[in-house]
Amino acid sequence: MKIIMHFELIKKYYKTVWIVFTILLLFIVLDLFFPLPKQKEFSKEIHAKDGTLLTAYLTSDDKWRLRTQLEEVSPELIKAILEKEDSWFYWHFGINPVSIVRALYRNITTGEVESGASTITMQVARMLEPKKRTYINKFVEMFRAIQLEIKYSKREILELYLSLLPFGGNIEGVKSASYIYFNSPPGKLSLSQSIMLAVIPNDPNSLRLDRRNTVTDATYVIPGNEATRESEKKLKLSDSRQAGMTAITENLIKVKRDYWIKKFNKENIFSSSDLKDALDEPIEENRFAIPVVAPHFSYYVKNDFQGDIINTTLDLSIQQTTENILLRNVKKVFYKGITNGAVLIIDNKNSSVVGYCGSADFYDEGSFGQVNGITAIRSPGSTLKAALYAYAFDEGNLTPQMKLADIPTDFHGYQPENYDLKFYGNVSTDFALVNSLNIPAVKLLEQTGLNNFIGFLEGAGFNQIQKQKNKLGLSVILGGCGTNLQELTRLFTAFARKGKLYPLNFISTENESRGEQIFSEASSYLIAKILSGINRSDIADLSNYSKLPKFAWKTGTSYGKRDAWAIGFNPNYTIGVWMGNFNGVGSPNLSGAEVAVPLLFDLFNAIDYNSDVKWFDVPEELYVREVCSESGLIPTQYCRSVTRDFAIKNKSNNEVCNIHKPVYVNLNETIQYCTGCLPTSGYKKVVYPIYQPELTVWLTQNKHGYHIPPQHNPNCDAKFTEAGPKILSPSEDYEYFLESPQNSENQEILLLAASDSRVKTHYWYINDKFFRKCKPGERIFFNPKEKELKITCLDDKGRDRSIRINVKYY
Ligand SMILES: [Zn+2]
Ligand SMILES: [Zn+2]
Repeated sequence: MKIIMHFELIKKYYKTVWIVFTILLLFIVLDLFFPLPKQKEFSKEIHAKDGTLLTAYLTSDDKWRLRTQLEEVSPELIKAILEKEDSWFYWHFGINPVSIVRALYRNITTGEVESGASTITMQVARMLEPKKRTYINKFVEMFRAIQLEIKYSKREILELYLSLLPFGGNIEGVKSASYIYFNSPPGKLSLSQSIMLAVIPNDPNSLRLDRRNTVTDATYVIPGNEATRESEKKLKLSDSRQAGMTAITENLIKVKRDYWIKKFNKENIFSSSDLKDALDEPIEENRFAIPVVAPHFSYYVKNDFQGDIINTTLDLSIQQTTENILLRNVKKVFYKGITNGAVLIIDNKNSSVVGYCGSADFYDEGSFGQVNGITAIRSPGSTLKAALYAYAFDEGNLTPQMKLADIPTDFHGYQPENYDLKFYGNVSTDFALVNSLNIPAVKLLEQTGLNNFIGFLEGAGFNQIQKQKNKLGLSVILGGCGTNLQELTRLFTAFARKGKLYPLNFISTENESRGEQIFSEASSYLIAKILSGINRSDIADLSNYSKLPKFAWKTGTSYGKRDAWAIGFNPNYTIGVWMGNFNGVGSPNLSGAEVAVPLLFDLFNAIDYNSDVKWFDVPEELYVREVCSESGLIPTQYCRSVTRDFAIKNKSNNEVCNIHKPVYVNLNETIQYCTGCLPTSGYKKVVYPIYQPELTVWLTQNKHGYHIPPQHNPNCDAKFTEAGPKILSPSEDYEYFLESPQNSENQEILLLAASDSRVKTHYWYINDKFFRKCKPGERIFFNPKEKELKITCLDDKGRDRSIRINVKYY
């Protein structure tokens, strides 16, 4: 019984079911064969952290087509557009049957094809795929509209519509139009402006706001969009005259705007007082440029990140402050031949870029303002020293109070000098770092191993160094390599983030990735402590900075005074500063301390002004120990005084002081004895500091007043088994270029050798012929006559050392 009932029912509605089924099938087949056209390309937009549009770029078809999101648009504009174009938008499925029937009737009675019935969805279909207006194309549009309604939400369709509306010329979408015509984001439009934006797409070429189109014909019929065209046709100039306008010279857009204001007023769409204000608002002919804020940053982000709307981490207020301070500082030093600078500011909370100035003035072509000084490859000067010292702390061979020798040294032919051309002798590690001494740094790099350190830098994201690595030498640590402000500043964020290096974050939605531990927290803390001291020779005049927050910084000046660097950090920010010339010309006045440090101070003072910066906590792995104040090593019974030093648990070595040793001397300390020549009476045991021979020589020559042991007993004939004299000059690593032997009278080569304190005479031999004798450390010169030379130094204990050098002539 039941089955029969069902059968009867199906039979009854058989036709309807069949029709619905066929239509559905037809739609599915059509949809399969005629999928929706591809979405249009939108302009790339770059936004600051607070959503402000920094800049946008033309699409590849040269359009300003900014993708519009509903939240960005003033509600008045959306309301005006919906009321005007498609008031049933939220209720229909792409097609509005009522208006189709109405339009069809009108077409039949008037014989016009174009009129009416296009929903917003259908208009979107037409904007995506422009076609001639024919009946067939109208059906295509309807089909497309249904496809759109199936594929997209109402919100997405409306956003597409707002984004694609034509506004004259290459301006598409209400957002583009809002910026270009009103210099305003679409959320801050007045009612008058909103209504104009709802109206212009009807006839963008006549109504566009960057050209004056006036009504000249008294019978001019205002063109309308399809849905509203019929009623608008009735609007003649008489209407605008009634509104008190002089129609002959009136701007077309004003006529249109006022018509709609009155219509909305009649329909009570907006409050009448708002509409009256809108009517009184003057209309200005204008075309503004799309904003260009932080151009270097925007360009960098545009090329590095996908998507048409890129929400970045840039802090607009920090950016503007930074731009002003940078420009002011560059102007201050312009007369010294320094024409540009760059600043990168990182928020240490999440390594996000909050300030980014690639040059002082992007539009200053004379100073190559369009070059991005943040990504430009330059020599880093001494800035990498901070990383080397941190690396060495972690290796365990160095602590802040250990002593390093700052004396003239030959590194296989490389003889670096200090920035001030002075040498400081026996200095502590922290002094060497703060004062950026060159010899200790090169020596430290040699001990650490060049390849180890370069490998470390590669791992820390130094790309140019990676490319150059086979060509790099010990001079890397003094700037003999290429890097950029971005890599350097990022490196310094690791000191501020417990030794962890994170990728720089440009995009606000980027997830915090896990950092890589490149330094220990302890060694980062030590670097921060050493570099934040205020007793520094490179400090600016502090009287201008009463509320300056605490921070640590390292300076750098490249070879030839081409680049001045200062990179600073505290728990809040890491700020990298570069100054110089983009054409690569150096300036004698350029130095990190004199030029870059004042800028860095200004920036910290402005951006982190008076902040209650809580300094880094002392890491647990760090402890304080007593060390010999003269060597920085664990004191022995012979050390005369001790001081406190930091050391890293399970890392820092426990080497005991090796310079304080007891020495046998006669009673007035003028003669030294060894166990071989110790007399039976008349001697005592005195503790002297015994330095390595080179340092002893330098300290003696430079009269540093060191308490040095007296000369060894001249009558001693004990055998010495240790190494002989150390030849400091000449060096086997050099080729000596001289003028031709005929006029080589004044060309001399230095002979210099060091020995321990027991040696009192050196004997020099050249090609096995005796040349001269002298005291250890005494500088004597000889005039080479042959091309190949064997140079031998013999000491009074019978130990000798030889080297071979080549002399070439020009
Ligand atoms: Zn000692
Ligand atoms: Zn002796």
